[in-house]
Amino acid sequence: MSNNLHDPFGRKITYLRLSLTDRCDLRCFYCMSENMVFLPKKELLTLEELATLTDAFIDRGVRKIRLTGGEPLVRKGFMTLVHHLSTHLEAGRIDEITLTTNATQLSKYAHQLKSAGVARINVSLDTLNPLKFTHITRGGNLAQVLSGIDAAQSAGLKVKINAVALKQDNADDIPKMIAWAHARDIDITLIEVMPMGDEINRFDQYIPLTAIRDALEKNWTLSESGHNTGGPARYVNIKETGGRLGFISPLSHNFCASCNRVRVTCTGKLFMCLGQNDQADLRDAIRSGSPRALDHILDDAISRKPEKHNFDIKESKTSGQMPRHMSVTGG
Ligand code: SAM
Ligand code: SF4
Repeated sequence: MSNNLHDPFGRKITYLRLSLTDRCDLRCFYCMSENMVFLPKKELLTLEELATLTDAFIDRGVRKIRLTGGEPLVRKGFMTLVHHLSTHLEAGRIDEITLTTNATQLSKYAHQLKSAGVARINVSLDTLNPLKFTHITRGGNLAQVLSGIDAAQSAGLKVKINAVALKQDNADDIPKMIAWAHARDIDITLIEVMPMGDEINRFDQYIPLTAIRDALEKNWTLSESGHNTGGPARYVNIKETGGRLGFISPLSHNFCASCNRVRVTCTGKLFMCLGQNDQADLRDAIRSGSPRALDHILDDAISRKPEKHNFDIKESKTSGQMPRHMSVTGG
C-alpha cells in the first residue's frame, strides 16, 4: 500500500521546501526587519538531522526538494546535505534538488552545486539599479549578485530570476529586468508581496501583478504558456523578447487548489501552509531516532493541511497577515 502523503483535499505532497538557516547576508525590507534577532545556532537541526528529515519525506513520496532560508548558502557545510540528497537523485528516489538563493555566494558554490546534480536554481533579484538594490536589500552589492549569476550560468546551472514586485521601488524597472533576463536566456517570475512579518503595513509596497501585466501588454505581446515547473507560477511567452515570464500571484489569483508543498524550518518546524500558523514540531521525533514517531507526526500534520491561505491587502484592511517573517520558512 502506498504510504504517500495526501491531505484532506486530495492533494499529494511531493515537494519539500527546507530552510537551512534563518540567517542571511542581506536584509530585504519586505522579508526581514532591520534589526532581526536570529536563532541561537544550537537550536538549529544539525546537517545530519536535516538529512534524516529529508529521508523521511522522501520515504513518504516527496520527489522535489528546494533548499532555502534565510540564505541557504550561508549555512556552514550545507554542501554536505546537497551531497546526501544527490545520492537520492542518482538512485532515482527524487526528481530534483534545487535552491532559492540571493546569489551573493554563488561565485563560490556554482560549480560544486552543478557537480552534485543541481540543474536549476532560483535567484531572487528585484532590480538592476545598484542604488535601488542597496536600498531594497539594506546594504547589498548588486555587482556581487550579478557575478554570482554569471558564475551559475558558466557552470551550466539553469537560472530563473524571482523578483518581488514593489509599487514604489521597482515596478518601473520590471520591463528592463525582463528584457535583460530574456537576453541572457533566463526565465523571470514576478511575485506579489505577501503580508508577512509584523512591523509593516504592506499596502505601500503591494502592486497586483494584474496591473503589471496590463502595463506590459501595452508594448509586448503576451501569450499563455503551458510551462509548469511544479510550483505556483503561471507562465506567458513574450513574443518580442522570445522569453518566458511567470506570475506568482498569491493575492490577486489564489493558487492553493494545486498546492503540493510543505515547508520545514531550520529548527524542524513543519508548516503545512505558508499563510497559516498551524505547525508540527519534528525535532523531537528526529532526535528520538524513531522513524515511526516521525511518520506519525507527518500523517497527523498533513491531515491538518489547510485548504488555502487568506492573504489580502487592501487600503482599508490587510487580512491573513502572518507575523512570521518570510525568512523563517523561505520561499
Ligand atoms: N535568501 C534566499 C533568496 O532571497 O532567494 C531564499 C529565502 S527568501 C525568504 C525566498 C523568497 O521569498 C525570495 O524570492 C524573496 O524575494 C521572497 N520573499 C521574502 N519576503 C517576501 C514577501 N513578504 N512577499 C513575497 N515574497 C517574499
Ligand atoms: Fe535574505 Fe532572501 Fe530575505 Fe532577502 S529575501 S533578506 S536575501 S532571506
